[in-house]
Amino acid sequence: MIGGGVIGVMTAWHLVQKGLSVVLCEKGRIAGEQSSRNWGWVRQQGRDPSELPIMTESLAIWKRLAAEMGEGLGFRQTGVMYLAKTQREIDGFEAWTEHSRAHQLDTRLLTATEAAAMLKGAAGGWKGALWTASDARAEPWVAVPMLAAAAEERGVLIREACAVRGLDIAGGKVAGVVTEAGRVACDHVVVAAGAWSRLFLGRHGVKLPQLSVLASVAATEPMPEIFSGAAADDDFAFRRRADGGYSLAPPVAARMISSSAGCLCVLHLLPADPAQRLARRHLPPCRPQGLSRRLGHAAPLGRMTPRARSSASAS
Ligand SMILES: Cc1cc2nc3c(=O)[nH]c(=O)nc-3n(C[C@H](O)[C@H](O)[C@H](O)COP(=O)(O)OP(=O)(O)OC[C@H]3O[C@@H](n4cnc5c(N)ncnc54)[C@H](O)[C@@H]3O)c2cc1C
Repeated sequence: MIGGGVIGVMTAWHLVQKGLSVVLCEKGRIAGEQSSRNWGWVRQQGRDPSELPIMTESLAIWKRLAAEMGEGLGFRQTGVMYLAKTQREIDGFEAWTEHSRAHQLDTRLLTATEAAAMLKGAAGGWKGALWTASDARAEPWVAVPMLAAAAEERGVLIREACAVRGLDIAGGKVAGVVTEAGRVACDHVVVAAGAWSRLFLGRHGVKLPQLSVLASVAATEPMPEIFSGAAADDDFAFRRRADGGYSLAPPVAARMISSSAGCLCVLHLLPADPAQRLARRHLPPCRPQGLSRRLGHAAPLGRMTPRARSSASAS
């Protein structure tokens, strides 16, 4: 398993339960990247209908984990609320309830008065809201290390501060991985390297269209409760944390980290009509620049590891 974010940790957890022998290598520390910095919402509301079955399953898994591991995960079904400033937004919410009904969710539309009654002292002047009481929140920077510790107890071997530099391929098949601490023999590899996955796979000629974006989240000190769940309108989003503070963020604003390879990936994501296929033929492969192909050499992400480690130990 390459990567110790929530995806790597939980995939390792499930694989070891199936009787496989699993080694997880993490270049920094468990949940040192996205998986500890996200908003911590476990949300069905507002999803694309095709995502709803997997979100319902995800919520069921969180409930099972919370029942098994207790309060520490910070899992609470305190609901998700989308707030509308315009009738157009309310119409959009209403249209989405068709999907919630089809999937037997407890979503409902709230009037302005009902929404205001749930948000103590709010002065947003919203016209109404979409509300799913069964949606939940958890504490990312606590939950993922806890889950990793439990995965270790079940037999997953976890190595932090151990970047995987590349795959060892023999006869067209994976025979192992080359890490900064040496080679690990294996016959299957799961790349759960988050924002680094495209860079990692590019070295082996695998094209993964992926954009890196930068988004900011602020965390307040503990403060009186105005709402126990998570809420968003088109200006900001927030959720109550278990420590009594709030995490606050602009709901959709994310800045693309510009790189030539990233820009080219946008083109690879375009629909495949004939004109674009033609244009694509003239594009260079979606491969990061300047990446060493010799596995004995640290790749750019490996070279970043000391800085990632020092910032991790500083935080
Ligand atoms: C601002 C923000 C808010 C979000 N809010 C939510 C939310 O409310 N709810 C929700 O469900 N999702 C949310 N997400 C999305 C969620 O955080 C991600 O989908 C999830 O954390 C991805 O997990 P991951 O394990 O794939 O990646 P990561 O957490 O990024 O983990 C990848 C790991 O791989 C390691 N790695 C990379 N390359 C190597 C290598 N070569 N060798 C060894 N290790 C390597 C990295 O160090 C990293 O620790 C949010 C994301 C952001 C950015």
